[in-house]
Parts: sequence; C-alpha cells; structure tokens
Amino acid sequence: MGLLALGTALEWPEAKKRADQVREWGIKQLLEIWSKAKGKERDALLWGDEVEYLVVNYKKDNPEVHLSLRQAEILTALAADKDLDGSCVPALQDAHSKNSSTLPVFHPEFGRFMLEATPGKPWGIGFKELLGVEPDMKLRRKIAKEHMLSSEYPITLTTYPRLGAPGQFTDPYYPPSGDKLRSQFVPDEIANPHIRFPTLAANIRSRRGRKVQVNVPIFQDKHTPNPWKDPTVNYDLHKFPEDDDVRNGAAPDNFIHMDAMAFGMGSCCLQITFQAKNINEGRTLYDQLSPLGPIMLALTAATPIYKGFLAGTDVRWNQISRAVDCRTPEELGEKPLKNDRWRIPKSRYASNSTYISLDHRLREEYMDPDLVFDPKIKAELINGGMDDRLATHFAHLFIRDPIVIFEEDLQELDLSKTDHFENIQSTNWQHMRFKPPPAENNIGWRVEFRSMEIQVTDFENAAFSVFMVLLTRAILSFDLNFYIPIKKSDENMERAHNLDAVLKDTFYFRKNVFPSRPSRANTVFGDDMANGTTAPNGNGGGSSRPGSRYPSRPGSPGGPVELEYAEMSIDEIINGSADGEFPGLVPIVESYLDSVNVDVETRCELATYLSLISKRASGELDTAARWIRRFVAAHPAYRQDSVVGDNINHDLIGAVIALCEREAAGRNFAGLGIQGLSRLLGRFRGGCGSEAEEMEVENGAAPAAVDEDT
Ligand code: ADP
Ligand code: MG
Ligand code: MG
Ligand code: MG
Ligand code: MG
Ligand code: MG
Repeated sequence: MGLLALGTALEWPEAKKRADQVREWGIKQLLEIWSKAKGKERDALLWGDEVEYLVVNYKKDNPEVHLSLRQAEILTALAADKDLDGSCVPALQDAHSKNSSTLPVFHPEFGRFMLEATPGKPWGIGFKELLGVEPDMKLRRKIAKEHMLSSEYPITLTTYPRLGAPGQFTDPYYPPSGDKLRSQFVPDEIANPHIRFPTLAANIRSRRGRKVQVNVPIFQDKHTPNPWKDPTVNYDLHKFPEDDDVRNGAAPDNFIHMDAMAFGMGSCCLQITFQAKNINEGRTLYDQLSPLGPIMLALTAATPIYKGFLAGTDVRWNQISRAVDCRTPEELGEKPLKNDRWRIPKSRYASNSTYISLDHRLREEYMDPDLVFDPKIKAELINGGMDDRLATHFAHLFIRDPIVIFEEDLQELDLSKTDHFENIQSTNWQHMRFKPPPAENNIGWRVEFRSMEIQVTDFENAAFSVFMVLLTRAILSFDLNFYIPIKKSDENMERAHNLDAVLKDTFYFRKNVFPSRPSRANTVFGDDMANGTTAPNGNGGGSSRPGSRYPSRPGSPGGPVELEYAEMSIDEIINGSADGEFPGLVPIVESYLDSVNVDVETRCELATYLSLISKRASGELDTAARWIRRFVAAHPAYRQDSVVGDNINHDLIGAVIALCEREAAGRNFAGLGIQGLSRLLGRFRGGCGSEAEEMEVENGAAPAAVDEDT
C-alpha cells in the first residue's frame, strides 16, 4: 500500500493539521468505490493467505542468535534473480506487466528482520487447489532461504524471543535509543527504513505524548521473584523527554516492559483474505467470521516469550494493540476532553466493534452500545447512498487520525485512486477487515481474517488456512449463524490471552448455529442437529413468516439474547460438546465435505489438516505456545526464574529451524528424535498414512542435533 510512493512524510504536528483533509478525501474516494462497486456481482470465490517470517542469523556453535536486518538486501536478491524473472517482488511486477507466473510474492514488513510472502495469485476454492497451499508455503520458505546467507533462516515464530533483551540481538548491531522510536531497548534501525515506517512509529508516539507502553505480565515460575521488577529497565536515561516515562510509572512490577512499536508490529501472523461473490456475501462473511477471531487466536497460541522472559500470556494480540496505541490522554479518559473529540475505548489495533451485514438475524442487541463514530461522516456516507449499517462501520473507522501523510498527496484529490481512504482503513488493524474493491482493477469485495498466530511449520499454517476456507464454505452453504453480542467477542479476545486458554478457558459462543427454517444443514445433519436443538427463540427471535427464512423485521425483538449463547471450551466449540448439543466446527466442516463431491484422496489429505485442528482443541496436541514453554522448562540452562537466556534461545531457534528443514526434506516429523514434536504435530502425518509410513516413523531417522528434551 503506497510503499513505493516516496515523498515528504509530515511530522506529527503538521500531519495533525491535515487530518481532516485526508478524512474528507478518503470518504469521497470511498463513496466513489461504493457507487462503482456496490452492484458488482458474481466475483469468483477466491482467497489468499499471508505468511510472515522472522529472519534469523543462526550458527550451530554460536550461542548468540541475531535477527538479520537484511530485509532490503534479501528482497533485492529476489528481484535480481533471473530465474524468478522479477515476479517474486511486487515492485517489479508492474514493469513486467502483471504477475503472470504463479511464483510466490515477497513483501517488506515493518520489522527490518521480517518478510511476508503470499501466493503468486489468489487461490480458487477447488478442493484440489486446497492441497496446493502447503507445497506453495514450502516453496516460499525455500525460495526465501535461497536468497539469504547460509546462516540466515526464515522462521515462523510470532515474536523473536530475545527482541529488546540486553546485549546484541541484531546483525548488524546498533545501540538503542534512536530519535524515531526513542526506545531504551531497540534501535531505530530495527524498523524498515522506508520513511513510512519510522514516521508511523514516531507519529504514534508524538500523538500519544509519550512512548507506547507494552506491558506483558511475567510468568511466575518457582524461582521468579515476587514482586518481579523488570531488570532490563534503565531508570537513569536522560537523552529524550520520553526517558521520563519509566520514572512516571510506565514499567509496573510483575510486567515485562516494552516501549516501542517494534515489539508489536515486529510480530508475525497468519492472515486469510476471502473474496465474496458480491458485497452482501462479503458483509455476511465479515459478521460470521468475527466471533471466530478470538477462538482461532486461542487455538493458534504461539507467543509465550518477550524480551528474554517467559510471559504470563500466550498470544501476541494485546501487545501489538498497545504497540500502536496512538490515543491521547484525553481519548484514553485520563484527562477531561478538551482538544480531542471523544473518548475512545480501544486502540486502533483491536478486536472489531461493528457488525455490518443486512442479515435479519443481526439483532440490535448484538451491536456495541458504546460504539464511537463520526456522525458527520456517517451522514455524508448516507447522503452518498450508503446504508446506515455500513456507513456506521466506516464512520467508526474514520474516528482515527491518519498517521502517515505525504505532503505531495495533498495537492489534488484523485477520485480514481483510493489512497486517502486506504490511509485510514489500513491503519485500523481490527481482527476483521472489510476490503472494498481497489480502484484500478477487477477485484471484488473481500474480507480478511486477521487474528491467527503464525505457526512453526508450513503443515500447520496450511492446516489453519484450509480449515478457515472450509469453514467459510460451510458458513455460506449452511447459512450458519454465529452471532453473539460483539462485546462478548471483546471479552473472548481477552480470555484468548490467558496461559493455555485453549484448554483452560471458556468462550462465549452461540449455542444454535443453524438457521431455524429448513435448509441444507438439516438434510446433512438430520433432525437431531438442525431441529432437535433449536430453541424456540434460538435464531434471533421474532416470528418467522411462512416462506421467509428470517424474522420479518430486521433486529426485531426475540427472546433474551443471553439465552442464545453459552460459555464453551475451545474443545467443545471445535469438536462438539459431549452431550451432542453443540455439533462442533470440525464436524460441521466434515458434514460440508460430505455434502459436496470430494474424491477420496483429497478428502484424506484434508482430514490430516482437520485432525490437527481437532487435536489442538482437545489438547492431544500442543499449541506452539505450550510446546515452547515445555522446551524452555526442559532446557538444562533454565533456572525456573522465567529467564530465557541466549543458550535456551539458541536451541529453541535451532529446533525450529531443524523442524522446517525436516519438513522441507519431506521427511516425517516423528523421527526427529524430539519427543515433544509429536505433541506439536502428531506422531506422524496421520490420516492417510499407510502402514509403511508408520513403520518408517517407528524406526525413526537419525535424531536431529537439537533435542528439546535434553
Ligand atoms: P494486505 O497486506 O493488504 O492484507 P496482501 O496484498 O498482502 O493484502 O494480500 C492478501 C491476500 O489476498 C494474498 O494472499 C493475496 O493472494 C490475496 N488476494 C489477492 N487478490 C485477491 C482476491 N481478489 N480475492 C481474494 N484474495 C485475494
Ligand atoms: Mg499488509
Ligand atoms: Mg500483506
Ligand atoms: Mg503483513
Ligand atoms: Mg516481535
Ligand atoms: Mg493482510
């Protein structure tokens, strides 16, 4: 997005003055898209994933691992590779006409130690195509690796365990405390040097009036002091005014303290974008996927370590949220409103606050009663022909200021572009994103699912991607209804952070997800599931007219909303409840697969993915977070004091590299000689495994050099 448009990035006080202009032009561009694209029909059901990597510099015999800051050089190497014909780097695609190859595409990211890779073009939904995802992800990792130094590796941990820890953690080394981030833990050079990124970080800090405050509870182990004071915090710095932050209480006891955007936006995730056939289907998907955000976050938990310490939480979400929280003290409610327009309950990176579908099952009671939106912008959108609900959504996103503004872009409004709209839209990092068609080409309305944590192996990343794709097909095919009050999703998002929430917590989830009128679901599930569990008001109430699928009046009052949902474990949500009341998402997906034509072989492959999801939910397999915690706990250098030192970090990174090398070589994981691996991925890629395959596992290949259980 606008990455190549070089220009003069305005510093905050100047940018602030132009915020209204950007919003105004952004809304005009949005209305232009709206009038052009609202009637778009029959777009193909396409989808695509995004995988983000950390690039580490790892040597077997050097206990120090470094983050490699060679993002630009690696992208340049990819661009210069004649065999790849420039197609792997989007900047070159325009020059070579559009990307005609199906080679993966690599993108820069906020961290200068990061890379993002996407498929060369979006996937269709043919079942055979789903099986292409994992090989493509492996190819991306292979191509990336081939354009790195021999000691560099693309790894898919969500966060680098020792980012910001004392000593050298980047290569090359830069001392902390640069003017942009003003962090006492990380140097400015950690961020992508493109002016957009340092400006983003600096302007967020300026807007706040202090540094971002990313505090994660420390994991209290046997020998962890209580209270625990972050030993890496320096209270005696006097270089920048922001050095006062820690003296003013920014680093409370029992929290790992971090102070820069890099601690959040330096995290890797797995995102999936779906193209809907038209705007209404897109709006439906947006709403129905929304309650799944926190569930999939807990299920993919992979973030147990920050800044060299075990954290008391398992996922990255809130840390990113805080790392880009640009709210002023007035907006935060710490001071009376004087200069700012309103109090804002959430960071611009947060769980989403709106439902946008015109589905009659969407009850008023599900909406956020405290939603902040700009009434003037809403009125303008409605004047432009947009319906109330979607206008509210965008008027909510547009309460934010644009953070990075290029002077040159403010000369004249170009309605054939979407840059000003995207400026606000793409810095609203909610867990769902409703993506309107871009101006220039033939793309439809898309919905992005953004909460999942990246997984260590491509098998896992493919499994979660494919699961989400199949789930969207089931949602549309069975007309599923996952609505719960959106505030309950906020609560779920918090719960997803808890240590091992996947096994230990419950989450609000809708009890009856099937439509009350007969639909395909009934035929698939039989009377038991579709009818037997239908409570009188189970689908949003209102009396259904004969012949209509939904209650006649939108948001018409039904039974108490509270009766529509219950607290369920992730196991119940994914695998179904023991009493059979709730069918479970994996069985629903299986029923969907039963209802369509899938050949045995494909079905069998898909089953290996569903099996991973199912076993993660039941606890039979570990989340990456639990796997990493076990690894640390079993390491001889670990002192049960929550400290993840260089040696442990080295071996953990080594294990992760070994795992992916093993995967790339097409060999079975269980032979790796790492007992715990079977807890992460299953004993073998079961499901379609022949006996011979199993034998090979039993006999085992040579154990890897790194053994987590030593
Ligand atoms: P962003 O970073 O803004 O979320 P990206 O350009 O990185 O978006 O792409 C997100 C994903 O969307 C990629 O996997 C890409 O293949 C996929 N994608 C591109 N075009 C479409 C489309 N028309 N429908 C669905 N997915 C698409
Ligand atoms: Mg992006
Ligand atoms: Mg992207
Ligand atoms: Mg990205
Ligand atoms: Mg990070
Ligand atoms: Mg994305």
